[in-house]
Amino acid sequence: MVRFGPAGNPDAFYEDGGKSSTQMPSWVNSIGLNAYEYQCSKGVKITQPTAEKIGDEAKKNGVLLSVHSPYFISLSSVEEEKRIKSVDYIMQTLNAAKMMGAERIVVHSGSCAKISREEAVVLAKETLKMAEKASIEAGFEYIKICPETMGKINQLGTVDEVIELCSLSEMFVPCIDFGHVNAREMGSLNTYEDFKAIVDKIENKLGTERGKHFHVHFTRIEFTSGGEKKHIPYDDTSFGPAFEPFAQLMADKNLEPVIICESPGMQGKDALTYKRIYEECLNK
Ligand SMILES: [Zn+2]
Repeated sequence: MVRFGPAGNPDAFYEDGGKSSTQMPSWVNSIGLNAYEYQCSKGVKITQPTAEKIGDEAKKNGVLLSVHSPYFISLSSVEEEKRIKSVDYIMQTLNAAKMMGAERIVVHSGSCAKISREEAVVLAKETLKMAEKASIEAGFEYIKICPETMGKINQLGTVDEVIELCSLSEMFVPCIDFGHVNAREMGSLNTYEDFKAIVDKIENKLGTERGKHFHVHFTRIEFTSGGEKKHIPYDDTSFGPAFEPFAQLMADKNLEPVIICESPGMQGKDALTYKRIYEECLNK
């Protein structure tokens, strides 16, 4: 099953009287979605009772949970101390995921502003290997860690780099942020074939399981020569990517990714639009 849901809590959730993230799973279900990415972007501060409540509600409402790790994680930092701290933050995120019953966490791939891309990949892989070891020791090995494709050119996280990071082991599943890919490649994602090339690459390099069940962030993103500038609502067609070609590809290839929408404030409504577009493709 393809799953659709918002990253964090949309404006409409609060307009409907929502107060706490523990109410999000039932709200997500009530509008016709079935995934929710809980945001720990500013640090893992969630308490155990809250996490467990979100988990219970998600189960009751058939909502699949994922957790976004803190933005300040730096897998490829040139400072060893920062890389070791990043492992700590990944462990905190994995622990939050465990309390919630989430089986995926998303991690930003890092920066390569001060070093070559190749050096950054080597450092990021070392950090992820440490995280994998710590995760197995803590009994979190069933939770997938999803390195994300990044939107700015000086960030680590092209499709190839993310695939390379995920080649470490099956614990790593690509998070393809198509908006980021499109932004860093100056509007490269337009046709069915553009999306197919990415999915084929995942399949060829990482196998059919990850080629079918990878993680997705999908949002239109405004970009400049440095890449990502800002996320925009789906209705604003001044920047891509459009969802139709990817929806058709999912339908043709029976892909079953989890699709998380990050439109600013409108991530629930836009996730529903994606779902509708996908269902139209299925019924063609
Ligand atoms: Zn992200």
